Amino acid sequence: MAIDFDTRLSKVVGDSAKKLEKAFGHRTVGDLLRHFPRRYIDLEHPDSFTELEEGQVVAFVATVLDVKKLTFRNNPRKFRVVVTLSDGRATMEAVFFNQFAVSKTPVGSQQLLSGEVSVYQGRLQLASPHMRELPPGKTLADLGRGGGALPIYPAGGGLTTWDVERSVQLALDVVDVFPEPLPEQVRSERGLLDAPTAYEYIHRPRTRADWVFAQTRLRFEEAFEVQAVFARRRLDTQQRRATARPGRGDGIRVAFEQRLPFTLTEGQAKVAAEIDQDLSDTRPMHRLLQGEVGSGKTIVALLAMLQVVDSGGQAALLAPTEVLATQHHRSMERMLGDLAKGGMLGGADEATRVRLLTGSMGAKARQQALLDIVSGEAGIVVGTHALLEETVQFADLGLVVIDEQHRFGVEQRSILSDRAAAADGVSPHVLVMTATPIPRTIAMTVFGDLEVSTLRELPAGRQPIQTNVVPVAEQPTWIDRAWQRVHEEVGRGRQAYVVVSRIGEAVADDDVEPPEDDEDEKRPTVGLVELAEALEQGPLAGLRLGRLHGRMPADEKDAVMSAFAAGDLDVLVATTVVEVGVDVPNATMMILMDADRFGVSQLHQLRGRVGRGSEPGLCLLVTGSPAGTPARERLAAVAASTDGFELSRLDAELRREGDVLGARQSGVRSSLKLLSVVRDEKVIASARDAAVAALSSGDVPADLEASIRRLEESERADYLERA
Ligand code: ADP
Ligand code: MG
Repeated sequence: MAIDFDTRLSKVVGDSAKKLEKAFGHRTVGDLLRHFPRRYIDLEHPDSFTELEEGQVVAFVATVLDVKKLTFRNNPRKFRVVVTLSDGRATMEAVFFNQFAVSKTPVGSQQLLSGEVSVYQGRLQLASPHMRELPPGKTLADLGRGGGALPIYPAGGGLTTWDVERSVQLALDVVDVFPEPLPEQVRSERGLLDAPTAYEYIHRPRTRADWVFAQTRLRFEEAFEVQAVFARRRLDTQQRRATARPGRGDGIRVAFEQRLPFTLTEGQAKVAAEIDQDLSDTRPMHRLLQGEVGSGKTIVALLAMLQVVDSGGQAALLAPTEVLATQHHRSMERMLGDLAKGGMLGGADEATRVRLLTGSMGAKARQQALLDIVSGEAGIVVGTHALLEETVQFADLGLVVIDEQHRFGVEQRSILSDRAAAADGVSPHVLVMTATPIPRTIAMTVFGDLEVSTLRELPAGRQPIQTNVVPVAEQPTWIDRAWQRVHEEVGRGRQAYVVVSRIGEAVADDDVEPPEDDEDEKRPTVGLVELAEALEQGPLAGLRLGRLHGRMPADEKDAVMSAFAAGDLDVLVATTVVEVGVDVPNATMMILMDADRFGVSQLHQLRGRVGRGSEPGLCLLVTGSPAGTPARERLAAVAASTDGFELSRLDAELRREGDVLGARQSGVRSSLKLLSVVRDEKVIASARDAAVAALSSGDVPADLEASIRRLEESERADYLERA
């Protein structure tokens, strides 16, 4: 039988298969051959010691001059091995920790090394590099199987780059068929290598040009496959039918617009018009509305929902948390006033009803809500995941709005519309909103099946948020001043948030995404329970404090949020449950404890809770991280910019690729190896054009069809894993 990418690894690499699966999860020949080298030793132009810089990732050959094993004074069981190396001109030290085998390295031997250059006590060194002995009598060229370059693979799980290389070479020798998802025309137009050549060159390059061409081709392939998935989805959407919801000139939308207490920003008006047009069509809308924090997306969504109500349909707003759903429900009822009192005494003629549906509602309230939804009495339904249950039936669902969509999987995004379409063949329109502004390339990669509208500007009259870093390591007294400021704000009738990174002992933590700074992992953080208590007894004594975290019962959460919104609490000590969407314009100050524990975009989100009214906002980023650390640089960046788009780009650069797309963001994550959604904007754009052309013309190779299926499945698996 022919060996292809689906062949089990055990058939090809024998016993190593188990280790490869354990270390990397590889099961098939394809998994292994897509384990691409991280870099190459260019045998023709090896890195020389004299040209190295801190932070550079290098690979070279050197002769061992000396090997010293040194124990640590305070822990005699631990030791380090310092290996002095020479490249024939200069010397350099490599340091290994607790690696006994390294201490046996023969002086005079030739070693291949790869690692990152760091600085220790003012001198360049390699800390824990990969090292492999070059057998006596062999030259470097003997190792480069293809010729002039040696691949260095991502290692781990007890397997070194050399172990991986051995298995890859074995597999490459025996594989008969390489998948070719790129249509011939797409390849020839762009001068891309064919699949067998690309795999040969990426694993056995003879020259730098080989691996560069191979990477170009395989990078394009990654982008192309993802874009093909989106193109397919978009084609499917276009083939679906929706009911046109053009609205009316004398309905609830117009009545509401007339009583809006403010004028729409230019951006809001433009996006509202775009959506108006989409809704008036019989093709289902599939639009992403992304906006700067506080740019006023909710109003835009509400206008769309009212337009659908005017056309006799219902609109559902799906929110990720109960806090948010409840808040949306409350503020919509408030804004609509008598327009939300349909069928009730005092309701306006064109009025409808807004219903809330969450998982924690009592049986009776739930029953009533379900009745209003199925009868069509409720024109607008706001809810959490509870809305996705099968028991929820709409009379005529015309629009699904998904708020803060990054909290939902792609699957969840489409449950309501798929179900409606399955029932009568008619799909609702879909509007998804995200408050995490993302760069264009990420939008293309993650939301490639959606049209994108963007709100960049904030409503007029907003005062900028001032953000300061409070470095408690250097300035321990500044924190006292911070609490003092809270008193001052409250004294002026304002409110404040204090945000913490964890709840406290004995309670599982909310959803914090700690960035990866090892040096910070160990510093203790303050928990909500202990901090709230300390504040009540100490610096904030006399103020009305509330506590809010994700593990509280829903009705308690709701009570606290309502009290804070109503001004019955001065200070809300909260976890990241307040991250998205919470809108209390009277809150003007936020103190973020252990701010170094949050990612850039998350900080920007959190900070967006203040400065939502006409008063300026103040945000203090409290951190124990010392000056000069990456954490401090990150905080300084957040303090220096209020442009969410710029910050999210920075966030993307600081994080590893997988985290950019986010664990919640679909199987795209697990499939990207060479492609960078941050750097490869041009590649992604070109791949998108190619994918759209290929799919609409029907030029879909069987291997591409298989890739699309594989990606869709990994996305589903991803979602199930999370659920
Ligand atoms: P986000 O885009 O972050 O979801 P919201 O929709 O919650 O923002 O709006 C933030 C606040 O701005 C709300 O209190 C809202 O009522 C108010 N707002 C929205 N649009 C305008 C506008 N054009 N002028 C003034 N205030 C506005
Ligand atoms: Mg919002």
